[in-house]
Amino acid sequence: MIPLKEVYLEPSLEGHPFVQRILQGLGHLPSVHIDDLDSLINELTSYQEDPWREGKTTLLIRSYQGRLVKDCPGTRDHICCGYKVINVMTNCPIDCSYCILQVYLNNPFLTLYPEIDKIFQEIEEILDRHPHRFFRFGTGELGDSLAFDGIIGFSSEAVPFFANKRNGILELKTKAAEVGHLLALDHKGRTVVSWSLNPPKIIEEEEHMAAPLGERLGAARLCQDAGYHLGFHFDPLIHYPGWEEDYRRTVDLLFEQIDPGRVIWVSLGGLRCPPYLKQVAQERFPSTKIFSGELISGEDGKLRYLKPIRVEMYRKMISWLQAYDEDLFVYLCMERDDVWQEVFGSSPKTREGLNKRFEERIAHFVREEI
Ligand code: SF4
Repeated sequence: MIPLKEVYLEPSLEGHPFVQRILQGLGHLPSVHIDDLDSLINELTSYQEDPWREGKTTLLIRSYQGRLVKDCPGTRDHICCGYKVINVMTNCPIDCSYCILQVYLNNPFLTLYPEIDKIFQEIEEILDRHPHRFFRFGTGELGDSLAFDGIIGFSSEAVPFFANKRNGILELKTKAAEVGHLLALDHKGRTVVSWSLNPPKIIEEEEHMAAPLGERLGAARLCQDAGYHLGFHFDPLIHYPGWEEDYRRTVDLLFEQIDPGRVIWVSLGGLRCPPYLKQVAQERFPSTKIFSGELISGEDGKLRYLKPIRVEMYRKMISWLQAYDEDLFVYLCMERDDVWQEVFGSSPKTREGLNKRFEERIAHFVREEI
């Protein structure tokens, strides 16, 4: 992991208890108080050769005027899973060549929005407004849920917060292996800890500074032993010569460590990206091979593998995964109705349809524990 070099703090947040705790934990690193962080971002990015790389050593702590809990943006004509994104932090210390944040965010620095009381209030409002629906919340969309959590400690607050929620569940999604601080928390089965997985070759070549596969699975095993429900995300699936053997072996390694009966969900998603990401990633990671497969532009303008390749990858992954448990809940991330049909012989059709499938799955795993 790249060590943190600088911390910049908006002065109005200095007395916030969550911020004070973080700064105490970073005692060796003085924080610089700056009112206008936007100007600082412009200034720093203007002279740095690779602002995205430098950004992973710099922490900004700032307030946010809008809502911090939002709907996952989804993508046009593709079935979205209706996730709620908690934006406590953007960016992460890991540096994946395919990371969409490189073109999605206009700020390359690790940025913490520490007003967690506001976050919890927004979540309460959503849950209270719709008492008969069930919501999934996660911190792993605009960053990694655990890679920086040892420093910011958000999960230590959020896991007990969700423990007593009747109609909400938290997902912590990661490529890290630091889970020690989660193990003794009273989660009451309302937190899913999930790992993004890829074969060791892809991790080594494309997921810089992420934990190796064995460490991720070891951490998942510790969480399983601590009673957490587990999730796994094979996303992005990468198509390359030898992918079948590598992914099949990865599935085997997963279930050497993990009881499939404890896995609440597995997602599959083929590599997809806006065309501009290809250019950015190839400049930042000249040795990346991730874009060497045949990618074509879809209805939403994103590059994807041709449909027959995606369908083949999904079908094979599902057969390897469900060989361990035929009831394993597997879903496709951001795929079209016709792809669902070809892979599963049925489709949830809409966000609501997919949400209903999640609710049934969660009821099976979680509701009996309330
Ligand atoms: S772990 Fe996720 S957020 Fe972090 S660099 Fe990789 S893809 Fe981006």
